[in-house]
Amino acid sequence: MQLYNSLTHQKETFKPRFGNDVSMYTCGPTVYHFAHIGNLRSYIMEDVLEKALRYEGYNVKRVMNITDVGHLASDADTGEDKMLKGAKRENKTVMQIAQFYTDAFFADCRKLNIKTPDVVEPATNCIDEYIDMIEKLLEKGYAYLAGGNIYFDTSKLNKYYVFNDHDEEDLAVGVRDDVEADDNKRNKADFVLWFTKSKFEDQALKWDSPWGVGYPGWHIECSCISKKHLGEYLDLHCGGIDNAFPHHTNEIDQSEAYLGHEWCSTWFHVHHLNTAGGKMSKSKGEFLTVSLLEEKGYNPLAYRLFCLQSHYRQNLVFSWENLDNAAGTYSKLVNRVAALKPDDSKQPNLEAAKPYQEKFLKALTNDLNTSLAITSVYDVLKARDLDSVTKLYLLGDFDRVLSLGLVEAAAKVRAANATATAKPAGSGEYTIAGPADASEEEAAKVTALLTARYEARKAKNWAESDRIRDELAAMGVVVKDSKDGAVWSRA
Ligand code: AMP
Ligand code: ZN
Repeated sequence: MQLYNSLTHQKETFKPRFGNDVSMYTCGPTVYHFAHIGNLRSYIMEDVLEKALRYEGYNVKRVMNITDVGHLASDADTGEDKMLKGAKRENKTVMQIAQFYTDAFFADCRKLNIKTPDVVEPATNCIDEYIDMIEKLLEKGYAYLAGGNIYFDTSKLNKYYVFNDHDEEDLAVGVRDDVEADDNKRNKADFVLWFTKSKFEDQALKWDSPWGVGYPGWHIECSCISKKHLGEYLDLHCGGIDNAFPHHTNEIDQSEAYLGHEWCSTWFHVHHLNTAGGKMSKSKGEFLTVSLLEEKGYNPLAYRLFCLQSHYRQNLVFSWENLDNAAGTYSKLVNRVAALKPDDSKQPNLEAAKPYQEKFLKALTNDLNTSLAITSVYDVLKARDLDSVTKLYLLGDFDRVLSLGLVEAAAKVRAANATATAKPAGSGEYTIAGPADASEEEAAKVTALLTARYEARKAKNWAESDRIRDELAAMGVVVKDSKDGAVWSRA
């Protein structure tokens, strides 16, 4: 796998430390609100990375934290406490908020076919580990007590500031976002490891510690949770690009100061999903969630396809029009797969399949070129040297990584077609009828499109239903709608 490493600023051959086993860590969500589809872009691309590594033959152990404590509105330890903000907004306890939005996050992930990491650890589970690490950092002289809080002393490091795609400006903590600078800090880049004297007197979750009752800073959780489940060396660390600084630089500082050696060799950062107006936000404008996409009649997997169509190191602009295009592409793909005939009595031709798999893997291992990998799906669909059974086998094989669910969705379309055509007119069900001399393939294709149009109309997705109407017209198909269904003929 050739992967761009943000630490070295170049594309490199990814090499795990221990043979075939990859240790992979992902910064998880802060569970004070629903994830927006920008957050989920990061998780989709990280999911594809994990699956691509598995496809290549690696064993991957992936760990993710759930941030349910310590994350302040500014990543630099200032501003309001995010969890507390969520609890106040909804008049619930912090733990209720955390549980609710953790469940909501995984529900979104399921809809997007994002696999749950092997280990998921809420930050509040590991307080003892944080205290141990902080004690050791104090002992080693990397941390200090000031104004009741424990801070990490960045001046004690030989190197700081490893992701130097950020400039000095970014370090000017306290001058951005109208937040106050913290006078306790010896150096402006220092960060909180443990809060005892919080300006948030109503902080809900507090624990006993050698420095008094308090709670951890945000960054310590990832260093400890990663060490707890993946050991002293990490092969791959992922997150959205905004996590690179200060969160990831701080994770490196405290981990390497604690361990006394280098910690994580490869850093994978997903660039942002933006709206035309700029940064995606949970508070400004339309709050774009998976549920909102569904309410508007979109299949969440069309959003997954939208993400896969562009490279993870490019910013991606979201618009409804762009999503419409992806949704159109998605339903066309499903219909084309539905037109392939499964046959349980036949085996796929594995020899013939091989070159297609190789091309697919080559795209993925070129810094996760997902849009190129998707062209392999088209290659298979139009291949003349593959039978339907081998095509379906290959599409299923690619879906181990792409997870677009094309084969499953196509099976549903086929089943719906079978029942739709079997239903007598006037039964109250939607029926589709065509000319008696239509070939099986033609009938399946038109029926699939009409079924998709029916679904789109039911979901009030007019853009999609219009698009299908145009597609049918371009195929020379004339449709007569009735209350109970549609009858089609050739123009
Ligand atoms: P949070 O819940 O704020 O901790 O963020 C969860 C993940 O989403 C982190 O990896 C962030 O870096 C990432 N993220 C935040 N905003 C965006 C965005 N607009 N596009 C892509 N990823 C994002
Ligand atoms: Zn993290």
